Amino acid sequence: MSKAAIVGKTPRASETSAAGQCLCGAVEIEIGVPARWAWHDHSSATRRAHGTAYATYVGSWRRRFRVTKGRTKITRFKDEATGTTRSFCARCGTPIAYERSRSAHMVNVPRALFSTRTGREPRYHIAIDELQDWTYLGEPLVPLKGFPGVVWERPTAKKRRQTLGRLR
Ligand SMILES: [Zn+2]
Repeated sequence: MSKAAIVGKTPRASETSAAGQCLCGAVEIEIGVPARWAWHDHSSATRRAHGTAYATYVGSWRRRFRVTKGRTKITRFKDEATGTTRSFCARCGTPIAYERSRSAHMVNVPRALFSTRTGREPRYHIAIDELQDWTYLGEPLVPLKGFPGVVWERPTAKKRRQTLGRLR
């Protein structure tokens, strides 16, 4: 067999893995694709850890997850009460991974770290009963006069009534 034939059979890295990185670039990770699954997590712990309304994760088998750069830049927070460990870039604070002791074979990675496809659409929701009423849900948006690049949700009569109700 020629060398070219062997090379031809080897899939390119970009076809078998997805690479991600933190905000500052000190930490880089990689998972095998397709990922195991993907979901939106609306729980309060995840909201606080990310500082967001919810976080979207892709779950990877641990053996298909690799830190390719900056292993020593990663710091961890173990939540003893829930048996979970969250890893962050110690330099910029970007969440890197979320691990649960009851799913020891899985490493969950924020979807936002990846700039390429992960092979899974986030079709599942965890803690949807905790969905926040300030989460953007695709309401129609219009440009805000005098602020280029800013759009806003014009309050509807129904929403105005709800807001007034809360203020009273
Ligand atoms: Zn970083």
